[in-house]
Amino acid sequence: MSGESLFAALEPLLESVSKPIQYVGGELNSQVKDWHCGGHGPDGEELTTRWALMYPDAYEVGVPNQGVMILYEVLNERPDALAERTYTVWPDMEQAMRDADVPQLTVDGHRAVREFDVLGVSFSTELGYTNMLTALDLAGIPLHAADRGDDDPIVLAGGHAAFNPEPVATFIDAAVIGDGEQAVLTITDLIREWKSQGRPGGRAELLLRLARTGGVYVPSLYEVDYLPDGRIKRVAPAADAHGVPWRVSKHTVMDLDEWPYPKQPLVPLAESVHERMSVEIFRGCTRGCRFCQAGMITRPVRERSITGIGEMVEKGLAATGFEEVGLLSLSSADHSEIADVTKGLADRYEGTQTGLSLPSTRVDAFNIDLANELTRNGRRSGLTFAPEGGSERIRKVINKMVTEEDLISTVAAAYGAGWRQVKLYFMCGLPTETDEDVLQIADLAKRVIDTGRKVSGRRDIRCTVSIGGFVPKPHTPFQWCAQLGSEETDARLGKLKEALRSDKRYGAAIGLRYHDGEPGIVEGLLSRGDRRVGKVIEAVWRDGARFDGWSEHFSYERWMRAADAALADEPVDVAWYTTRERGEAEVLPWDHLDSGLDKDWLWEDWQEALDETEVEDCRWTPCFDCGVCPQMGTEIQVGPTGKKLLPLTVV
Ligand code: SF4
Repeated sequence: MSGESLFAALEPLLESVSKPIQYVGGELNSQVKDWHCGGHGPDGEELTTRWALMYPDAYEVGVPNQGVMILYEVLNERPDALAERTYTVWPDMEQAMRDADVPQLTVDGHRAVREFDVLGVSFSTELGYTNMLTALDLAGIPLHAADRGDDDPIVLAGGHAAFNPEPVATFIDAAVIGDGEQAVLTITDLIREWKSQGRPGGRAELLLRLARTGGVYVPSLYEVDYLPDGRIKRVAPAADAHGVPWRVSKHTVMDLDEWPYPKQPLVPLAESVHERMSVEIFRGCTRGCRFCQAGMITRPVRERSITGIGEMVEKGLAATGFEEVGLLSLSSADHSEIADVTKGLADRYEGTQTGLSLPSTRVDAFNIDLANELTRNGRRSGLTFAPEGGSERIRKVINKMVTEEDLISTVAAAYGAGWRQVKLYFMCGLPTETDEDVLQIADLAKRVIDTGRKVSGRRDIRCTVSIGGFVPKPHTPFQWCAQLGSEETDARLGKLKEALRSDKRYGAAIGLRYHDGEPGIVEGLLSRGDRRVGKVIEAVWRDGARFDGWSEHFSYERWMRAADAALADEPVDVAWYTTRERGEAEVLPWDHLDSGLDKDWLWEDWQEALDETEVEDCRWTPCFDCGVCPQMGTEIQVGPTGKKLLPLTVV
C-alpha cells in the first residue's frame, strides 16, 4: 500500500482517447496530500484515513457536483485524512486501461482506487449504478461485497438514490443517508480508532462498528424474507448482527452556517456542465410537491443566514475567479430573506463582470422581481418555471399550488419586463393523469404566447415546453403508485405534440422537448427495486451497459433482456416493480431506512392526492405532522435574522 502515482502508466493512453484532459487533474483548488499525513501509532499502526470520492458519471458532469466538492474539502481539512476524486471513464478509456492493465485511478494523485480505505460513491440518480460496477471492476475490487477482503476499500453509497440502496445492496458494503459532512467525519473517526487498535476483527468488525452507530446501513447485516407472491415479508438485522438497529437514521446538518463549504470550489480544466460557482442558500423544502423526492428527504428547512451567504459568495469568487454565482436550493425564491439577499448581491456586484443566477421553479410575480434584480446589467434571455402538471386538476393531485391565472400573470410580468423566452417544465404519467390533463399543456402554451405577444407587442417571443416522464420515488407520497407504462407515455406525448403542431398560428413560437418513456421504466425499476434487482444490474453491466443516463449509450432492449434472464426464477418482473400499485400494508424495500418522514403521514398524503386535496407549506401554516421536526428535535428554521450582507465591501 504505497499510494504512489500511476500517472506514468496513464500518460501513454491519453493521446488515443477522447477529451484526455478529464483524466489529468490539477484543477485550481484541488489537493494531493501526503499518503501518510495522519502519521503512525506507537507500534507503527497506520493512522491516515483515505477516501476516494466517486461521482459515477463522466468528469464533465461530476466535477461541479456540490456534494462531492463539500466532502472533498471537509475531509482534506482534517490533518489525519485525505480525499481524492475519481469519475467514470469513457468507454474508449476503459478499453485502453484494460488493454494496458491500468486500474481505476483518482484524478488528483493518480493513485489506485483500491489502495484507499473507503470508496464513497455519490448517487444523484440510479442511472449511475452500472458506472459504479465499471469502476469497481477496473479498480480490481470484487463486484460483490461478500467477496472483498481486508485489503479492499469499504464501498460506501451516498446521495439521494442511497435512500433506497437495496438494488445495489450486493455491491456496496455500506450506505449513508442524508447530509454527508458530519457523517464522513464520524466514519473517519471510527476507522482511525479501529486502525489505531491494530484493525481488530478485520473488515467484518469495522462494518459492524459502523452499523452499530445507527447512522450507517450495512446491507450484509440485514436479512430480507419474501412472501410467496414476491412481496417482502420483513427486513431484519441478521441473527449474528448484535447491536445493529432495526432502522437506520438519516444524517441532518442542522446549522448550515457552521458548514460554509465549499470554501475553495474546484475550477475544472475541461469543459463541465456548469461553468459557475454555486452557493447553497438553504436545504430542505416543505412546499410538499408529492412527486419530489428531494423535497421530502431533505426536510426540515434549514436556511443559511444572509451574512453566511454574503461571505461564501465573496470568498468563493476570490478563490476561483468564476464570473457567475448560482444561488442554489430546491426552490431558491423561498428563502425567507431572498429579496434582501438578491438586492444586496446585485448592489454589491453592480457594474462588475459578476453575474448572478437563481435557479428557481416558483411561479409568481415575486420571482420576476428577483430575476429582474439579478439581471440589472445583463441580457434578459430566458426564464424557467415548473408548473409540472398541465391541468389545474392534476396540479392539485401533485400539490403544486399554481393556478392557470398565476402562471399567465407571471409570464405577462416576465415578457413585460423584457424577457424573450420562457421555459415551462412538465411531467407526464402522474397518478390519475389522463390524456386530457396533458393536452391542456398545449392550451396553456398557446395562452402564454398570446399573452407574451400582447404585453410585449413583439412576435419574436418564445415558449419552450419541456416534458419528462414521471418516475415514482421512495420516501414520497407517490411511493405506492403505479408508474405509467412506456408505450402509454409515448402515446400521450405523441398526442401533445400533435396538438401543438397542428395550430399553425404558433409555429416556431412554441418549442417542445420531451424524452420517450423507456428510460423512465428502467429508472423506475432501479428506484423502487429491492435486492433482487441487483442481479439485473449485474447482468446488464456484463452485457455492456455503461452511462445509462446518456441517451446515446442507453439501451432499453439490453435492460429488458437482462431483466428477463435475471428474474426468470423470481415471482416478479419489471412490470411488478414499475406499473404495479402497492397497498398500504406492503413492506417497502426501504422501510428500514428512516428518512424522518412518518409512513402513516405519507400514506395520508397519498390518499389526499387521490382526493385532489392540497396541503399548504408548513413554513407558513401549522405543522402537518410529517414527523421530521420532532425527530430532529427542531422546528422549521426560517428568518428573518435581521442581519445584513454588510460589512462586506461593495466591489
Ligand atoms: S414536522 Fe411539521 S413543521 Fe416539520 S417539516 Fe413536517 S409538517 Fe413541516
